[in-house]
Amino acid sequence: MNILSVKNLTYIYNEDMEDEVTALSGVSFDVEEGEFIALVGANGSGKSTLARLLNGLREPSSGEVLVRGIPTTDRDRIFEVRSTVGVVFQNPDNQMVATIIEDDIAFGPENLGVEPAEIDRRVDWALECVGMKEHRKGTPFRLSGGQKQRIAIAGVLAIKPRVLVLDESTAMLDPRGKKEVMDTIERIREREGMTVIMITHFPEEAARADRVIALDKGRIVIDEPARRALSGVERLRSYGLDAPLPARVAYELRRRGMPLEGEIISAEELKEALWRLK
Ligand code: ADP
Ligand code: MG
Repeated sequence: MNILSVKNLTYIYNEDMEDEVTALSGVSFDVEEGEFIALVGANGSGKSTLARLLNGLREPSSGEVLVRGIPTTDRDRIFEVRSTVGVVFQNPDNQMVATIIEDDIAFGPENLGVEPAEIDRRVDWALECVGMKEHRKGTPFRLSGGQKQRIAIAGVLAIKPRVLVLDESTAMLDPRGKKEVMDTIERIREREGMTVIMITHFPEEAARADRVIALDKGRIVIDEPARRALSGVERLRSYGLDAPLPARVAYELRRRGMPLEGEIISAEELKEALWRLK
């Protein structure tokens, strides 16, 4: 069974009012356990709306979201849905709830009624996953942006989700913070086999995923392996998106007549294609 299944999903804000906005229309895709998906799209294309629908924070206007086969509208099983799909948002400051880091991380599992000994183990494990174990008794306030976001990720990990959704979780961070968070995500994927859906503005981050889904005005316009999706420079541009730098360089070189072969999204691939020219 797919861990997530989105079927003909439509979401309308302020339905039947003057300021009605159709944020998503006819969106369908399935996610297998363990996939690493980058969700991309211009501002206002519906990415955050989709993130909120994936764990039942909002309900579809029509269509459905199934989490391990459970509709997110099934109020009797909403805890199961919420503990399967964890969402990390953009601003870590809005996600901190306590003044001591371990309390902050315990908050999620406490709300799900997890027993104290198990919460204790989860706090340890979650901090270990994000590489912040020595900060357990500390306060979040003095941390760097990247460290705060890693604590926010640990808070979501503590509910033991099988799917981690990150909504532009690196957007507010400096380059070092971005790298810390990306490395953390990869470590969690490797160690725990977790399914990751990463919403990002940065093509270089999307290039680390296996599959790319692009939204344009609330509709899916691309759903392909990352290399294919991100090497099509002109198509991405038509949706207001950038390709990774090596893909753009390859595109410009080809336009100038260099017959580079293959789908190029990394510096390594660009280098190899250039070598093959002789
Ligand atoms: P993205 O995350 O891709 O930037 P959003 O999902 O935030 O896109 O927004 C999709 C569309 O829905 C946009 O047109 C946005 O203005 C609109 N929208 C988002 N949140 C609300 C809201 N709370 N009320 C009304 N419209 C909203
Ligand atoms: Mg958004």
